Order: sequence, then C-alpha cells, then structure tokens
Amino acid sequence: DAVLANIKASITTIPDYPKAGIMFRDITSLIQNNQAFNQTIDCLVAQFQDQGYTKVLGAEARGFIFGAALAHRLNIGFIPARKPNKLPRETVSQEYQLEYGTDALHIHKDAVSSNDNVLVVDDLIATGGTIIAAINLVRQLGATVTDAAFVVALPDLGGEDKLTALNVKPFSLISFE
Ligand code: IMP
Repeated sequence: DAVLANIKASITTIPDYPKAGIMFRDITSLIQNNQAFNQTIDCLVAQFQDQGYTKVLGAEARGFIFGAALAHRLNIGFIPARKPNKLPRETVSQEYQLEYGTDALHIHKDAVSSNDNVLVVDDLIATGGTIIAAINLVRQLGATVTDAAFVVALPDLGGEDKLTALNVKPFSLISFE
C-alpha cells in the first residue's frame, strides 16, 4: 500500500538512541511532514469511525499528538493519560514497569465512566507496558476498552500478544521487525 509505505518512509530511525543497541523510531519526522501526518490520521479515522467509541485516550506524550487529532476527527472527547503530579484534580493511577524501576500514568476520576467505550492510543507499542497501564486506568473507572491503536508496532517485543490476552485488539499502521 503506497500510503502506508509513505508513512513508514517518513519515520526516521536513530541507531543507538537513547542507548547502545536500541533502534529508536522517531515520529517527529512524520508529524512535521503534512502529507504523512494527514495520511496517518486519515488511516486511523477510516479504521475507527462509526464504531461507537465515546472517548479517545492518549498516553503521554506522543500519544497526545495522534490521539487528540483522531479524537477531533471522530468528534469525541480526548483524555490525556499523564505522568504523576501533572493533573490538578483527583485521579486514578496505574504503575507499570520500566527497564529500571517503575513509572505511573494518571487520569482524572471524572475522565470516563461506565457509559464510555474508550479507544486507547499511543505512537508506538513495544513491550505493551505503557498501553496496558492506560487500559487498566480506564477499566478501573468502569469504562470499556476493546481496541488499542498505534502508528508503529515493534512485534518482536511481544506487546500486541499481551493486549490480546487482555481482550484488547491491537491495531497498528506499520511495523518494524
Ligand atoms: P512499551 O511501554 O514498552 O510498549 O513502550 C512504548 C512506549 O515507549 C511508548 O509510549 C513510546 O512512545 C515509547 N517508545 C518505546 N520505543 C520507542 C521508539 O523506538 N520510538 C519512539 N517511542 C518509543
């Protein structure tokens, strides 16, 4: 598919960033390219429009970029899942493992309710830890999550299989082996 090939070609790969052995997939080169950014959002809209979603959640920070653009096009609200000490009102939180130590994501307690069907979005899925934390936040508040959307998947790291085990269907536009 020429569109997906164009999106993939717009992503820059930086070897050994942030440390030796990592091939960092950089989406800033995608979003600074108006054609590639438009194509990316158009593809996500085509996949997820008219499916009954009531909110989009995006994971800090690159999930905000794609998630907010998608929510706007789907004409539904956007929930930012944020790192600790960023949100000003009462939150729910979920810890997740990093390679060294832990981090956490928060959303406001009134961000979603049991009537919501939430599409969770991030730029990229690797091990799945980040998006699983986001899914658990939404489910803590009684809302439904059935699908997760990414621009990029790194299938070798197994995150998509973990989502399937949680009854969440992963969708990504492109992957890097
Ligand atoms: P996971 O939690 O292991 O699935 O890692 C995904 C999270 O780490 C996402 O929020 C990504 O933005 C970030 N991430 C991991 N690897 C990369 C990469 O190669 N490029 C950009 N972001 C990455």
